Amino acid sequence: MDFGSIVGHKEITEHLKSLIQNNRVNHAYIFDGPKGIGKMTLAKAFAKTLNCEKGGTEPCNSCISCKTFDQDNNPDVIYVTHKTAGITVEDVREQIVKNIALRPYRNRYKIFIIADAHKMNIAAQNTFLKSLEEPPAYAVFILLSENSNSFLVTVLSRCVMFKLRPLPYDTVAGYISRTKGIDYDEALLCSRYSMGNIGKAEELALSEDFSRLRDESADIALRIEDADMIELYDIIDGIREDRVKLGQILENIYMLYRDALVYIKTGDEKRLIQPDKIYPISHIAEKSGASALIRRCEAIEDTGVKLRNNGNAQLLLEALFFKIKEK
Ligand SMILES: [Zn+2]
Repeated sequence: MDFGSIVGHKEITEHLKSLIQNNRVNHAYIFDGPKGIGKMTLAKAFAKTLNCEKGGTEPCNSCISCKTFDQDNNPDVIYVTHKTAGITVEDVREQIVKNIALRPYRNRYKIFIIADAHKMNIAAQNTFLKSLEEPPAYAVFILLSENSNSFLVTVLSRCVMFKLRPLPYDTVAGYISRTKGIDYDEALLCSRYSMGNIGKAEELALSEDFSRLRDESADIALRIEDADMIELYDIIDGIREDRVKLGQILENIYMLYRDALVYIKTGDEKRLIQPDKIYPISHIAEKSGASALIRRCEAIEDTGVKLRNNGNAQLLLEALFFKIKEK
């Protein structure tokens, strides 16, 4: 675990290294970006380097601090956790406020890595603010967030924010194909499918279900295209029970519609996320047209949100399929 082994995010890693080199480390950082983008990896490289006894811009991997860090056993790097859906006042009080006054055991910094920091409720943020406002010289907070809009302005104003962006598709594909021994084209498909999100791409590449579900979804998308009412209800009966799988099927169909739209607009197969599904894609493109596809994508997004909020799958699917079939 060091900066050198991080895939992409070069500007951020160079910036963090220069802060360490110039002794300009702030008390609090927010690493913001979607799940799987690499926030924790970056936080670990930063924390390990900060506390390395050699004091360089990369961890030495041989001092006690580096070694205990690698064993998840460095007493001066604290991973703030939470048992409930959100981070509560109690979590902040027990793991940060009570802890911060104690000097580091043996390292220069005492580092708090707060995963899911966007889930800190307002009361918890206010409690955290007290530690953030007057931190001891040795304290560093690294907040990992999927939604920086959830922070109070008073918290935001005391943190340095880094936004982690998706990586180029070939960078992600090259990395996955190299490290997981996966065929490059397959890795590229996963990379595109995840929109350059390295964690998600890796998950897809290693999933046994992904390829099978893509096939099944392509079949369903084709059936919908030519279905009458009876057939539509048959499709609904076949997919409504397993909500997790249903979510994935809808996401897959969304991706096919997106590809069909790109195919209509550019005619370029190289721009498709799933070039291996050119047949359903060209057929869907021919039958529906661009504006219908845009409407369909919006309808799927809307259905996905309602399904995640525990909406009735049968009713939502009926409404969705009627919209899809609407001329
Ligand atoms: Zn070291």
